[in-house]
Amino acid sequence: MTSRTSRQRPTLWIATRNRGKTREFQAMLGKSWKVGDLHALPRMKEIRETGRTFQANAKIKALAVSLALPGRLVLADDSGLVVEALGGRPGVRSARFSGPRSNDERNRKKLLRLMQKMPKGRRHAYFQTTLVLARSGRFLGARTGRVWGRITESEQGSGGFGYDPIFMPIGYAKTFGQLSGRTKDRISHRAKAVQGIKSLLSRYEHPSRMTKYI
Ligand code: IMP
Repeated sequence: MTSRTSRQRPTLWIATRNRGKTREFQAMLGKSWKVGDLHALPRMKEIRETGRTFQANAKIKALAVSLALPGRLVLADDSGLVVEALGGRPGVRSARFSGPRSNDERNRKKLLRLMQKMPKGRRHAYFQTTLVLARSGRFLGARTGRVWGRITESEQGSGGFGYDPIFMPIGYAKTFGQLSGRTKDRISHRAKAVQGIKSLLSRYEHPSRMTKYI
């Protein structure tokens, strides 16, 4: 019999308190993995993301959480938008781009203002997600996903979150704010990074082999 119960599936711990993110990882990883998150560690202090790169920040989170959960596989992510003409900004500061009172709308407005006079040819940008896997304070590897596109002149659509309404991926005439969630989930930076991490995970746990004879 090949049926699996949650007890037989290996657990991957996601270094986040954001339940939406946990659900998203569960959906992208599929049924052979069970995911847990920081709700299992209510006393753990907030981890400060002081790194200068996406990987540095994801690593800080993955290592800290893996020390608090010894022996467990821990995955941490860091994402953001990189605009070439702005020297890589907003980058690792994507969430805090418009200062202490940042929110998605303010961040988008600031970016559009900074790019107001830029011609189409200079509006290239990409979203990046870097995922880091760790166990017991040891770095096991990182995988990065990117999706390239351009920054539009104004907001288009209201779907998604963050910079979605002003980002048009290459090959599409709609922004992430206009495209369906399903399309975004197929081509996004996050989906690509998760694809990469799946093969890394299989080196440490073999969910299919473990359950083959159950
Ligand atoms: P996080 O590291 O996934 O929490 O992302 C940090 C910030 O990057 C978010 O607050 C957004 O501003 C931006 N960001 C990351 N991924 C996306 C995306 O898929 N769409 C739009 N904005 C994103």
